[in-house]
Amino acid sequence: MKYVCNICSAEYPVDTLRYRCQCGGLFSLEYEKKEDMDFSVSARSLWRFSSMLPPLSKDVIDKVTMQEGGTPLISLGENLEGKAEYFMPTLSFKDRGAAVLVSLMSQIGISHCAVDSSGNAGTSVAAYCARAGIGCDVFVPSRTSDKKICQIKAHGACVHEVEGSREFTTQKTIEFVESNQVFYASHIFNPFFYEGTKTYIYELYESYGKSLPDIIILPVGNGTLFLGASIALEEMLHRDMIDSIPLIVAVQAENCAPVAHAHLHDLTHVEKIETCDTAAEGIASALPLRGDQILAHLRKNGGIVVTVSEQQIVEAHKALAMMGLFVEITSAANYAGYLKLISLREEYGNRKAVIPLCGAGLKSVH
Ligand SMILES: *Cc1c(COP(=O)(O)O)cnc(C)c1O
Ligand SMILES: [Zn+2]
Repeated sequence: MKYVCNICSAEYPVDTLRYRCQCGGLFSLEYEKKEDMDFSVSARSLWRFSSMLPPLSKDVIDKVTMQEGGTPLISLGENLEGKAEYFMPTLSFKDRGAAVLVSLMSQIGISHCAVDSSGNAGTSVAAYCARAGIGCDVFVPSRTSDKKICQIKAHGACVHEVEGSREFTTQKTIEFVESNQVFYASHIFNPFFYEGTKTYIYELYESYGKSLPDIIILPVGNGTLFLGASIALEEMLHRDMIDSIPLIVAVQAENCAPVAHAHLHDLTHVEKIETCDTAAEGIASALPLRGDQILAHLRKNGGIVVTVSEQQIVEAHKALAMMGLFVEITSAANYAGYLKLISLREEYGNRKAVIPLCGAGLKSVH
């Protein structure tokens, strides 16, 4: 198991405190992949798919896991289902990534870490660190929901509220990580997080009887679910588990849509564009660090991007609540994205589609 730089291909051991290559490149994770997916594992958590995940010690996994994963599919209409990721231990899909990342941290003997997030990733890392006995500093933009900050503090993490943009919060975290020489438990930099989010797709594959729905809707801020899902889909295609990759629809808020901009204008790099505030705080990333990688996956797999307005997000949030589902406002962007997709291309309304219901509604109540 090793990290490989995605620019110069330099290799690093996974117990390094480095979070990116000396050349500035970001890490990918390489390890020996098994030929076949083993469905006979009895675990109901995401470790059910350990045959597709990095080799971590069973003792560590058993210590860290909170039985995350195995989230239900809920019907939202004739051809649409929502995968209710708010059924997770900390009420968002980030637990998929944090369970794997913190297991690694525990295995390599990390005693303290730092992470920055718009809220949910920090909550999730804080919770799993508490469980693993690892100290944790969490940096969030100062406008993060009080509920999320409260949840992070409850797990004993030290919260730093940073004035300014989400990008500035990352900069402050990196300064802290470097001056204190602690592990950077970043859901964006560290590829173990994406290993966890891969399981979103494996669960769909099992739920759909060893196949996948025609349309997979995914939110894109920093792309932590999107990247894990894309990696999983490409691995499955490579193993002939699927004949083709479903239509991937990336959803961004119109007010903060750098990936949509780059995709529309055929750019190879995601560039900083003008953005405004959006109610979808969980996907408000003006310059996603792995933006180029997100674009590359989108192009390679023939995916598309849909943007949604603030009004569409609010209406989708209400509509979901009127179906009994109270989701975090950011999560409503996914449903809004689906509704926009089928309004643009009516025939898609006849295909099977899935949206993730990423976070619980009480997280975004003020
Ligand atoms: C993390 C998160 C997303 C996706 O954001 P990325 O930055 O793309 O990982 C979407 N919705 C919610 C509620 C989230 O917590
Ligand atoms: Zn490099």
